[in-house]
Amino acid sequence: MEILKTIGKACTVAALFVAAPVYAQDKMVDALPIARKLRALDSISIARLQAKEVMADAELADLYPSWTNRFETYSNAVLPKEYAIDLRGFHMPCDSRRVSSHYGYRSRFRRMHYGTDISLHIGDTVRAAFDGKVRVVAFEGGGYGKYVVIRHPNGLETLYGHMSKQLVKADQMVKAGEPIGLGGSTGLSTGPHLHFETRFLGKKINPEILFSFENRDVNGDTYIFRSNGRSAFSNALAHTNIQEEEVVADASLESSDAGNDRRHQAKIYKVRKGDTLSKIAKKYGTTVENLCRLNNIPKNRTLSLGQVIRCS
Ligand SMILES: [Zn+2]
Repeated sequence: MEILKTIGKACTVAALFVAAPVYAQDKMVDALPIARKLRALDSISIARLQAKEVMADAELADLYPSWTNRFETYSNAVLPKEYAIDLRGFHMPCDSRRVSSHYGYRSRFRRMHYGTDISLHIGDTVRAAFDGKVRVVAFEGGGYGKYVVIRHPNGLETLYGHMSKQLVKADQMVKAGEPIGLGGSTGLSTGPHLHFETRFLGKKINPEILFSFENRDVNGDTYIFRSNGRSAFSNALAHTNIQEEEVVADASLESSDAGNDRRHQAKIYKVRKGDTLSKIAKKYGTTVENLCRLNNIPKNRTLSLGQVIRCS
């Protein structure tokens, strides 16, 4: 909203100078450079504000308990009962699509493998899977090797392990598909591959549920994370507990220390025929801007039937 106000101000200033020739044509020569300067200044401050908002979005301060450059599993985080993760905008983390090892229990090593391994050659480019902000750039000799963790505005964090080189710095903003490192075999690795993890508030999600690496695509647009373990894609909602046309109103947690944090009372709405963002906003006493922010979607996004929209 602040940005809108600033833009509004800039427009008013611009309008004054546009109107100037009618009333004071002789002042025009003097006035124009000032107008230009003002406009330039305003566009700089608007850009700064926008950059700040993007940073804040990527840090997801209302969802994650903290922003730190250390590896963090958020074991104390309170999981929302439901959270819609928008997977659109996914970019393959590397050129290769060959999965060499799946997520899951490895009987050979008697432990869980919390990521998907994609085979690659040493030196191959590793790319950010979504827009986001680099949280961790670190080395772990007995594990991930040279790895990077990125937090994304959709709520996910992705981890890229065993790289030969990291190309980004902590706190750097990245775009989906932007190079973040080079493939390798550092850390606990038996050969060159990318170890790719997806986590939501520290909770591991099998990347192969979210993405089809073979098809270089997502398996669905919106993945509804549920703390009760019944996570699913939104187009499968007919078979889930969101059958009401409207609301799963009470996503508040049973724990008494849930506090007043609004993320614990998230309202979820399933899109029906004829719905628009403004209709939904009206229904929930909020604004289109707020809905866009909560759901990380642009204002002009066409809603699809069954799509899940977070309304608070
Ligand atoms: Zn692995």
